[in-house]
Formats: sequence, structure tokens, C-alpha cells
Amino acid sequence: MFAAVPFTLNLNQTDMKNKIHTHTSLEPMLKVNAFIVETSRELIIIDTTLTMSDSIALKQKAESLNKPIAGIVLTHGHPDHVAGTYNLDPKGNIPIYALPSVKELMEDTEEEKHKQWSGMFGSEWIPKWVYPNQMVHDGETVSIAGVNFFVIDIGSGGDSDANSIWLLEDENKAAFLGDFIYSNNHTYMNDGSILRWLANLERLSPVLKKFNKYFVGHGSTADFSFISKQKEYFLNYCGTLLDITKGTGTFDEETKKKFEQKIISDFPQYGCQFMVGLSADKVASELLSKSLILD
Ligand SMILES: [Zn+2]
Repeated sequence: MFAAVPFTLNLNQTDMKNKIHTHTSLEPMLKVNAFIVETSRELIIIDTTLTMSDSIALKQKAESLNKPIAGIVLTHGHPDHVAGTYNLDPKGNIPIYALPSVKELMEDTEEEKHKQWSGMFGSEWIPKWVYPNQMVHDGETVSIAGVNFFVIDIGSGGDSDANSIWLLEDENKAAFLGDFIYSNNHTYMNDGSILRWLANLERLSPVLKKFNKYFVGHGSTADFSFISKQKEYFLNYCGTLLDITKGTGTFDEETKKKFEQKIISDFPQYGCQFMVGLSADKVASELLSKSLILD
């Protein structure tokens, strides 16, 4: 199911340089990023933001470039990356690219996410998702607007149950990683698979080393050094969790608070602080699962 990752990618040095624009949401909690790859004639949108205002702003930014949108790429199926497609392409007329597993995850979770969040976001919540209409698979090279992307399906072990990364095959040496790496932000780990996430980081290191800029869902543009930073974050988080709960993985109000304070003090510059407590019980249950401990 998962193709071996190639060690040489076809980087065409004669391409005119395509421009990459980062669109950071104004929504204050997640500050999710979407990206516009601008070629000489067309645009490619990578992820589409969460809220009404931010996705309308993304659309306006695209319109200001005066070029048509040739395609939309969805890296993974969380609302903050897919909901805004509704404002860019309400009827799904533009090619929308994603893994089948990303589409399935959207189908399985759309209703639940609406129930969970629409009250809190009110009129900013996007009422209907637009689904991917172009299926892509692990190891495929996808050509959009004359630009090639190499797609890797990493399965679970990113911040959702289905994740892809998109490697741009031009002189930018840019990798679009979705939420595989959180750049100077606390990480959402509430979908679990942390061991697999660590393994994916290790596995993809040789390939990602060839890329200069990592465009990530939350935080500023990252680079290769962020792979070890992400691994360290997971190890610190899991180790601190076991330490503070004395190996039980069971929190009470006091230990939860102590845990959150410790992680926040260990990473003082990191944003998205609410993620620390949000993921704690899920990660604790993973650390205590029978498959991960020796009798
Ligand atoms: Zn995200």
C-alpha cells in the first residue's frame, strides 16, 4: 500500500520559478496556513482554511493575482484544512486532489465536526464541505498547472488518521507537509498514533533532507532541523506525562495542570498552548496500551 520513497526526485532546474504565497488565517486559536503556488499562468491552492472569513480572504488573495485556479490540494481531512474549499469552489468544478483515505475521513467525520464546533464558531463555521474529486495515490506524480508534485501517503501518524505530503518538483525545493510538523506550536495529538508519527518522521528524513522549505499547517515555514525538533517534542511530552502521573497515565485536576505548566515552560516560545491539555488523555491511553508496554 505504501510505495517506497524514491531517493532521487526529478527536479527540473529550467523551470521558471513558481512563487509560493502563504495565507495565514486571522482566526486566533489555530492560525492555520493555506498556500497559493503561482505559476506563470495559473494558481494551485494547498489547503483551504477553517472559517468563512479566512477562506473568503484566501479567495480574494487568489483573485488579486489575476490568474485562474487550476487545482486545489487537500493534505489531510481536518476541518481547518478542508472547510474553506466551500468558498473557493462551492460546486466542486475545479479539480480537488486528495488521497482516497482523506476523502473517506472527511465523509466519516463531517457530521460529527459540525455538531462539535458549529455552535462555538457560529456564522464563521462553514456549513458544508466540498469533497475531493481527483483521487491520488502514494508514489504518484501529479501534474497541476504544469507543475509536478510527488505525493506520499503517510497513513496515520500525522495529526489525523489520513495524511499526505506533497513535494514540489521545481527549483523552490518546497515540501507541503500539512500538519506533519508543527512549527513552533504545540502539536495536536488527539487522533493518536504517536509512535507511528515518530516512525514516519524517521522514515521520511532522507527524502525531506533534499527539500529546503517546509510549508506547514501551523506556524512559519520550517526546514530539516524541525524534524528532530518534532521528535524531541513528542518524547518530551510522553516522558513528562509518565513522570507526572508516576507511570499511571491517569490525571487528576492537579496533575493535569502541573503537566500543562511543565510542557508550556519547556517550550516557552510555542503557540497553540491549548493543544497541550487537549491531547493529554489520548496520548496517555496510547502510552498505556498493552501493545506498547512489556509485562
Ligand atoms: Zn491543522
